Amino acid sequence: MAVEDLKYFKQFDIKFSTLAIGIHEFHLDIKKKFFAKHKNEEIIDANIQVLLELNKKENLCIFNFTIDGQLTLQCDICLDDLAYPIHTEETLILKLSEETTGEYEDENILFVNTNEHIYNIEQVLYEIIYAQIPMRKSHEDVEQECNKNMIKQLELYTSKQTQAIDDRWEVLKNLKI
Ligand SMILES: [Zn+2]
Repeated sequence: MAVEDLKYFKQFDIKFSTLAIGIHEFHLDIKKKFFAKHKNEEIIDANIQVLLELNKKENLCIFNFTIDGQLTLQCDICLDDLAYPIHTEETLILKLSEETTGEYEDENILFVNTNEHIYNIEQVLYEIIYAQIPMRKSHEDVEQECNKNMIKQLELYTSKQTQAIDDRWEVLKNLKI
């Protein structure tokens, strides 16, 4: 990975152990390369700002994420780029304990060994944002208009395909078996 990328991904390493008790703010920037690293081809581009408000307490850290911005996806109807808005909030609790049991009472609560100093939030953010993408996505769903030219081209292509199949049937029908 390039030095520039290493630097970029460093922002997701949250050094919670050295933080003082109280609230701390982090501003994180999610770009295309964030999703490219996760080999996600569904996301064409990304411009998302994450505000992380970290509330450090004696034996736990509360991570409050406020996520705003947009993803560029592909519209299922016209296949053109779709600017998909993302606005969501999520809370994650990191419990510091002597033994990490691996048993989660809640998916938003994680146990971290007291020996740990850094918690990497990359995967967490990836999952929160990815969960915002619906199965079916189109310009209509976000009150935008589909690319009419693209639809026309697609219809033309589909009708040509159908015509080709019909022609083949004609040939078969005319064959005298
Ligand atoms: Zn569309």
